[in-house]
Amino acid sequence: MQANRRSFVTKGALAGAAATTLAAPAIVKAQSTITWKMTSAYVKGSPFYMDGPGSATDLARRIEAMSNGRLRIQVFGAGELVPAFEGFDAVRAGTVEMNHANSYFWTGKTFAAQYFTAVPFGMNFQGMNGWLYDGGGLDLWNEVYAPFGMIAFPCGNTGVQMSGWFKKEINSVSDLKGLKMRIPGLAGKVYSNLGVDVKVLPGGEIFPALERGVIDAAEFVGPFQDRRLGLHKAAKFYYTTGWHESATVSELLINRAAWQKLPRDLQAIVENAAAACNVISEAWCQKANSDAMDDLVKNHKVIAKPLPDGVVKALRAETEKVLAEAISKDALTRKVHDSYFAFKSKYDRWSEISEEAYHVTVRG
Ligand code: CA
Repeated sequence: MQANRRSFVTKGALAGAAATTLAAPAIVKAQSTITWKMTSAYVKGSPFYMDGPGSATDLARRIEAMSNGRLRIQVFGAGELVPAFEGFDAVRAGTVEMNHANSYFWTGKTFAAQYFTAVPFGMNFQGMNGWLYDGGGLDLWNEVYAPFGMIAFPCGNTGVQMSGWFKKEINSVSDLKGLKMRIPGLAGKVYSNLGVDVKVLPGGEIFPALERGVIDAAEFVGPFQDRRLGLHKAAKFYYTTGWHESATVSELLINRAAWQKLPRDLQAIVENAAAACNVISEAWCQKANSDAMDDLVKNHKVIAKPLPDGVVKALRAETEKVLAEAISKDALTRKVHDSYFAFKSKYDRWSEISEEAYHVTVRG
């Protein structure tokens, strides 16, 4: 019995070997290397976005490893191939196959893109992933980009950002009036409505402007990246949990025609590498930010605290007005907005008795 089985196995193995030999030329042909270009809105070496676990460079490395070198991604930092905010047009034109950035840079092309990065007073990392992967968010993201011939995947997340650095303490809404602050995007519009003189500066220009008093306050990312810019040396008050960016999503933008030409297994590798980086980058932020925050408070005498309730209340009221205006102008933005906030309201009820309850009542 045993001998019979062995002979069967041997015969089977031989048959397999013969098949492999015959099929070998086809396999070699199918494994030819595909090389894609990926640009970024961030300069080479930027932590989180360009370097480190879950970054653009790490994403490319994972795709190459998983595909055994069949798909190689050449990564270009901002300015190397195209300027920082021209990745959208480069992917659309097919000059490059991919861009790694944040969808809220493209609100000038299509306002609804805002919702796939961060909405002020929006969802946290868990809620955002629930909406994107299982609540219809990713389908809407692709619907928004369909007219541009592009698709997208979430490929990173900073977690909750910080409200930012202020030279003077903020006690009430009146302290915001006339304040010169670096704060981009929708949040900038909200602050502006409350009397803030909003300035939009690239990352590298924030520290000198804050130090010289060209600006009185600045928002960037979170403890690790903010400390790297040296912002704690220019302002002492660090207002914590970011109302404006509760879980900022990184975007992998892909030219749809190039995507459709990619073999199915390589499509699956790109999709799964992006999902891996979404989690791995957020995990890195938790570690990097908890270390940096301890250092800022203990060693650099930073005063870290939340914005006063009255200020948060006013920011919330202004946010609602700004979003109401945006959805009144554009049907697609309204569709995305309604989906996002319908999911959020259900998620909030669940979170209140699960995650939030754990932090408030169980952990102690
Ligand atoms: Ca930010």
